Amino acid sequence: MRGPNLISSWPGAAALLGAALGVWICATNAASPEVYIVRKNDSLSQIAQAHGVRVQELARANGLSLESTIYAGQRLQIPRPGRDEEPHNARTVTVRKNDSLTVIARRHRVSVAALARANGLSLDDVIRPGDKLRLPPAGPARPALETRVQKAIDTAPVRRGTWKQIVIHHSATPMATIRGMDEYHRMECKMENGLAYHFVIGNGQGIPDGRVEVANRWTKQLEGGHLSTRSQNLVSLGVCLVGHFDHHRPTPKQLASLHALLRALIKRCGLGPSAITTHQLASKRHTRCPGKFFDLKAVLAELRSD
Ligand SMILES: [Zn+2]
Repeated sequence: MRGPNLISSWPGAAALLGAALGVWICATNAASPEVYIVRKNDSLSQIAQAHGVRVQELARANGLSLESTIYAGQRLQIPRPGRDEEPHNARTVTVRKNDSLTVIARRHRVSVAALARANGLSLDDVIRPGDKLRLPPAGPARPALETRVQKAIDTAPVRRGTWKQIVIHHSATPMATIRGMDEYHRMECKMENGLAYHFVIGNGQGIPDGRVEVANRWTKQLEGGHLSTRSQNLVSLGVCLVGHFDHHRPTPKQLASLHALLRALIKRCGLGPSAITTHQLASKRHTRCPGKFFDLKAVLAELRSD
């Protein structure tokens, strides 16, 4: 969880006073952010790197964009990693006694899955009074599916009743490309239709983070190759997220894309959220796919809260 006094450590008053007087009141308090004076030929990314912060955080802490020009003599505040997050528009809440993620989500009218995701938590993680949580954006912040993908879903010749379930997999590799997976399934697994899945969602390694790749098996409405029996493959759409979720969680962008994709697929195929499952749950053979860090419950909870 975050450190204590996320908000109070921000010396907003001192900074404002300093700005009003035209001088910078030097940091006297240990919790104040460091100030760096820009030298000739410095760049935001160099400064960020030298201070061990992300360039986006550095830019945000100074009201800059990544494209902003900086000049010698300019004073930049160096954010403290993980503490001075979004000081100006912070939407953070402090966990109270008897709070749960569900209670907090309801209180702030956000979905529990989005709340968990915004804080890198799973639904089963324990939160304690005094913890600070970041609130996800309120309102209709659900990302839409890319037009390209929505169109592919709408125009495929889906016959109602064909698909009974949607099965989620991970690639069990740190990176993947469509070509590589397709070749592997064609050559090694001897599948004449190649790539075994209907959709693949990238993680930024080989396929851009959160990008939904639409495979031939979807556009041509071919049976899957992702389960061990033909009878299951005939009725099961396969969605593969690149990554190894026994080692790490899916990326937030992957989860957002998965949510949008599943929502569109259940609508198109006349299914409900209960048709969504994992390889491990669907398979008659033992498999750990898609890994212990893939949280199906959270995915379903978010779909049901739509
Ligand atoms: Zn699998």
